[in-house]
Amino acid sequence: MTQTTFAALGLAEPILRAIESCKFVVPTPIQADSIPPLLANKDLLGVAQTGSGKTAAFALPILQHLNAQSIRPAPFVARAVILAPTRELALQIDETVRALSANLRLRTVVIIGGASRFKQVEAMRRGADIVIGTPGRVCDLMQTRELILGAVSQFVLDEADRMLDLGFIKDIRRIVAALPPQRQSCLFSATMPAEVASLANSLLRDPIRVEIARKEETAPKIEQFVHHLNQSGKQSLLLSMLQDDALSRVIVFTRTKHGANKVASVLENAGIQVNAIHGNKSQPQREKALKDFRSGRARVLVATDIAARGIDVTGISHVINFDLPVEAESYVHRIGRTARAGAAGIAISFCDPSERPVLRQIERSMNFSIAVVGDAPPPMTHQQSRPAAPGQAQRRRYNDRGGKGMRSAA
Ligand code: AMP
Repeated sequence: MTQTTFAALGLAEPILRAIESCKFVVPTPIQADSIPPLLANKDLLGVAQTGSGKTAAFALPILQHLNAQSIRPAPFVARAVILAPTRELALQIDETVRALSANLRLRTVVIIGGASRFKQVEAMRRGADIVIGTPGRVCDLMQTRELILGAVSQFVLDEADRMLDLGFIKDIRRIVAALPPQRQSCLFSATMPAEVASLANSLLRDPIRVEIARKEETAPKIEQFVHHLNQSGKQSLLLSMLQDDALSRVIVFTRTKHGANKVASVLENAGIQVNAIHGNKSQPQREKALKDFRSGRARVLVATDIAARGIDVTGISHVINFDLPVEAESYVHRIGRTARAGAAGIAISFCDPSERPVLRQIERSMNFSIAVVGDAPPPMTHQQSRPAAPGQAQRRRYNDRGGKGMRSAA
């Protein structure tokens, strides 16, 4: 399979710079398939789910189209509308859109229930290039003419199957009826039951259909994160993370046997039930370590790559790469210890400045950028490590980054 680039998809330079700031290196399949037809003004039916990169797939062409016409929206007028079934998703889309439009002069307004209606109306007073909203509140503002959809040139209906499950069909029909017929529309849905197909039929004109295999079929559900910090901050970050009970069965990988022993003794001193396995341990010691880990008597297993080969323990909630492996391939093996048997799992890597080239290599080999948690990478000269705060704050950041948060495997 040949790999494309964002530049080759036809995106403009300020947008490419924002993509780079978001650390998206290579377009995901849905982005590669959707962006060119959307830039060519085609309607699109996308069968894809969260995690596929669908938000940027529809958002990037919208940004390019809106930016190409130097139109200032009149008061209460929206130029583009993105509808999402839930407030959380609307906020997540807003975050992505803002990041991707960082170098453009476009105004985004979020119109969702459960937030101040007054503030939303005030925001619409200046008009909006992009409105991101949930159907109920969008209809509400439409009815009082505090949101005018007659000039919308781009329309997106995201997670259409969930919209229908949540009973939004009437609101959606009302909103669609207020849109001008001359517009570009996209509909995304994880599944395509008859009701969604029929909605798509009524909404889209001669659409391109783009389908991405369900995630479960292509890869296990592993949410991946990376912390950038200095080597000296790794122990305290690990300890603070382990204050969270959601890390219920954890493998910590170190590069060396010595490193494994050191981490195990730090955890032990902190009162955490832990065993280490590596090449210097005898077979009975290894067996006992695995038995304790399987039974839950030890919450944490610290391991080197070789020792971890063939470990098959179900219910591992988190894999923590205390050190990144030397080879990209080992990374995939390591994180594959979690998310066994269709369960979800979380992989968190600690990356000090010297490990950044390996991280880049890992990301390239997976064709995927690992989400950065906590602080962005410090400059190479940065001496001070700043581990993320423990407990709630940390969990919230994982939530923000990964959408589903820091939780144990289902
Ligand atoms: P979505 O399916 O739109 O919810 O995106 C899922 C996650 O993938 C989000 O955290 C995005 O920031 C991330 N993402 C989207 N596109 C890319 C890309 N081309 N490379 C790396 N990460 C991406």
